Amino acid sequence: MNKKDTEYFKNKLENEKSLLEAEIKTVGSPDPNNPRDFSATSNDMDIDNADENELADKLEELGDNKGILDSLERQLRDINAALDKIKNGTYGICEISGELIERDRLEANPAARTCIKHVKI
Ligand SMILES: [Zn+2]
Repeated sequence: MNKKDTEYFKNKLENEKSLLEAEIKTVGSPDPNNPRDFSATSNDMDIDNADENELADKLEELGDNKGILDSLERQLRDINAALDKIKNGTYGICEISGELIERDRLEANPAARTCIKHVKI
């Protein structure tokens, strides 16, 4: 991959990264002990004064947010991994076969870790 292409995908990844980070803030709050980690939050959680139904709703909301958060965090990890590869000069190479990842595939998902043949299903 030439320098221009690498720059192009780097920009794409960085855009996606800031979008993801903004999205993560809407469903979670940063863990004060580990700023790279987030925990799911529920808006105005007030367990002491909630009745049983409210509490069930809140817990459900928290559970939903946790699921969304997990998937956003996974995407963010892939993006960070791809940005590391750009730094190391290994971006765009299939992690399984070492072949070049198809251009179309990178266009659709710049954080792709494998070529089309080796996508885990
Ligand atoms: Zn492959």
